[in-house]
Amino acid sequence: MYTYETLCSDIGKLQQYGDIIHVKTLCKTVLGREVDIIKIGNGKKRVLYVGAHHGMEYITSALIMDFAFALCGLIGRGENRFCRVINAASGKRIWEKYCFYLIPMLNPDGVTICCEGPEKALAYCDTKQKTEYGRVLKKAAEMTLEYGTGDVTDISLKSRFSSEKDVFKKWQANGRGVDLNHNYQSGFAEYKSLELKSGRIYPSPTRFSGAYPESEPESSALCSLIRASEVSLLLTFHSQGKELYGNDFFSGGNTRDYIFSRSGCDPLAEVKEDGTGVDILRRTLDGYRLKNKERSVGRFLEKESGYARSVPTGAAAYGGLTDWYTEEFRRAAYTVEVGHGSNPLPMSMLDEIKKDLLYPMLTAPTLL
Ligand SMILES: [Zn+2]
Repeated sequence: MYTYETLCSDIGKLQQYGDIIHVKTLCKTVLGREVDIIKIGNGKKRVLYVGAHHGMEYITSALIMDFAFALCGLIGRGENRFCRVINAASGKRIWEKYCFYLIPMLNPDGVTICCEGPEKALAYCDTKQKTEYGRVLKKAAEMTLEYGTGDVTDISLKSRFSSEKDVFKKWQANGRGVDLNHNYQSGFAEYKSLELKSGRIYPSPTRFSGAYPESEPESSALCSLIRASEVSLLLTFHSQGKELYGNDFFSGGNTRDYIFSRSGCDPLAEVKEDGTGVDILRRTLDGYRLKNKERSVGRFLEKESGYARSVPTGAAAYGGLTDWYTEEFRRAAYTVEVGHGSNPLPMSMLDEIKKDLLYPMLTAPTLL
């Protein structure tokens, strides 16, 4: 596993690169951990990579930290750890042209609950918070054991858990049972109405959207950062599936991709029964083909990583960061589902994931 403590120690080791990196605290979590953001590069084009929205997906934190070490090695010492050929002068160019904002672990409370259990997760709380949040976590586990948890878009799909320990081992939410990747504005209202209909309106190890969009310190601080910092590309890392969800949204270009990913279904759904919409669809498809033949970040990521571009279905189509960013800013954003297997992925899979992704993570900004 890759715990919060391992992350803190790795961030300490990164300091050996001196002025190349800057580390800041983005926010404090509900249970009192610091969410760190690492800035590398001095350029005007900013890209943001976010890992571990979800507790079981800590392998994405390890990936982003390995990327940070590789990037510092390239910029500072001309070392190449990117598993592909890279020109020796690349480090300097990257430093001058781009700025990478890296948030390796957005949800350290969730990662700690998953890796080390709720007691360890509450270690940074004062006595009052310990009682309050301890109760929330216990209640979430009890409700989950009684009713299961699942996809509110299809309540027949229920996940079952064998014990309280099992619930915590499969914890995806933050320290008070809110799923951060359902806590963004995009699709929130629709999702909330599905939650209300299904009666799933309580803290849970996964998929509870919270009281309102950006209600959590982690999601709220992240959105504030994005609003304030003119990010041109957002990659948000989850596990698993070796898939990419998202779109580029070049000005007026691939509306087709936008419709495709946003609605979680076929773009033909935009065509109405009376025939309206056909023209829009044809024009957007043509525009997409003409303007974005080779420049699409999505196509580039697909080609370089070997991951397949796909469309989120069910609950995954609501309240996510990638959709919110695209709707709000109309710039390139992708959800990258790393590795394959069942969560949490074994850390032994990290080498394969790095082979697929380190190079495209470094070079995707050059398409902007
Ligand atoms: Zn996830």
